[in-house]
Amino acid sequence: MSESCNHQCDSCDQNNCSSRNAGIQKAPANPSSHIKKVYAIMSGKGGVGKSLITALLAVLAKRRGFNTAILDGDITGPSIPRMFNLHTKARADQVGILPVETKTGIQVMSMNLLLKNETDPVVWRGPVIGGAVKQFWTDVVWGDIDVMFIDMPPGTGDVALTLFQSLPVDGVILVTTPQDLVSMIVEKAVKMAGLMNIPVLALVENMSYFTCPDCNKTFHPFGESNPEETAKAFGISKVARIPVNPKLTAASDKGMIELFEGNWLNELANELLD
Ligand code: ADP
Repeated sequence: MSESCNHQCDSCDQNNCSSRNAGIQKAPANPSSHIKKVYAIMSGKGGVGKSLITALLAVLAKRRGFNTAILDGDITGPSIPRMFNLHTKARADQVGILPVETKTGIQVMSMNLLLKNETDPVVWRGPVIGGAVKQFWTDVVWGDIDVMFIDMPPGTGDVALTLFQSLPVDGVILVTTPQDLVSMIVEKAVKMAGLMNIPVLALVENMSYFTCPDCNKTFHPFGESNPEETAKAFGISKVARIPVNPKLTAASDKGMIELFEGNWLNELANELLD
């Protein structure tokens, strides 16, 4: 996708563009939004750390001085606001909905920033949820953003499909756990991205190992795995591993993810933010 993309394929002469090649008209961003790169963080199922990886990548991008945004596409299970301790409600003006800014300046839009009570469930059917995700793109006044990370809904269902079809996603970062590597879950996610003509840029194996703080020995609580082999089989060039780390749980559950320390995703961030 070109950096000057306005998502109006009809009037564009870029023939080698992934959006155009998918043959699908993308939804136009709010006229006040100028978003250069969009990465989708995807997992085959829920609870594998997709939101955590989204948050970590956004924090790294912000630390490197990029104007950074998170679009929380996980409408029914939004956990991004909690990780950043965001409880202010999003406001709207005549131009659109304004994202909420984290302490370090990351722009966030999430269903939980719109609900009256954060604990209210979103009991909507798939197409309505898909419409809400699309509106996070079309109606939110993102401003000038160098890189946006989308926390995808888990799995390869209806909403994920709408999101891939409507938003100009430049690449997917696939999050798995060691158990998932041997199942068909990863393959399904890779195939879905392939069908949408979106490259899978990296495989992040979360909860990959655990290093004992007392004896410094490494354990594999979910079994030993070989993410490099899986990545190779699917033509994914980058692999990152993240350990089970109680400090990460505490940082995300207490809303202090912007203070996290750890170099597990530095190389991946270098590549994505190149
Ligand atoms: P998903 O978005 O895939 O549903 P989350 O990112 O919300 O999953 O993670 C689920 C829970 O697991 C969160 O409480 C998170 O802090 C915790 N968690 C995820 N990855 C790790 C990790 N590597 N170490 C410790 N806790 C983790």
